[in-house]
Amino acid sequence: MKPTHLTDTEIQLYALQSADSNPAALEHVRHCESCQARAREYTLLFHAVGQQTRPAFDFDLPEVVMGHLVQPKASPVGQLLIVSGISFLSAAFLGTMVFLFGQQLLDLFSNRSQVVLYTAMAFPGALTILLVIESYREFQGKMKQLNFN
Ligand SMILES: [Zn+2]
Repeated sequence: MKPTHLTDTEIQLYALQSADSNPAALEHVRHCESCQARAREYTLLFHAVGQQTRPAFDFDLPEVVMGHLVQPKASPVGQLLIVSGISFLSAAFLGTMVFLFGQQLLDLFSNRSQVVLYTAMAFPGALTILLVIESYREFQGKMKQLNFN
């Protein structure tokens, strides 16, 4: 027989007639009136809890919760497919242009002065700079949202 009274966990396991109850605890309860009384109380409590009806909402919980969730704009896989497709088509277009008109392109740029080349490169360069500035502003806006919310 176990010399001390059982813990609440051991009593609850005994009251639930769990297979996890250790034999020493079972032997103690068999001889200890105090632990038998506590086990009877837990048995009554578990029975009363089991008789309770399950709580139910009077509204459609999933519908209410899902209405407040932000829906993702597009799946990452879909975006990846779109970006991959556009990249492939762009590369195919450029390759075709170089294959078909390569010599003419070389003549176009080899017979022109440096000023024409710089002028032709000005637009992509300016566009790249504007995109970098816009990305940086967007990044700053997101960082402000993170810092103040
Ligand atoms: Zn006891």
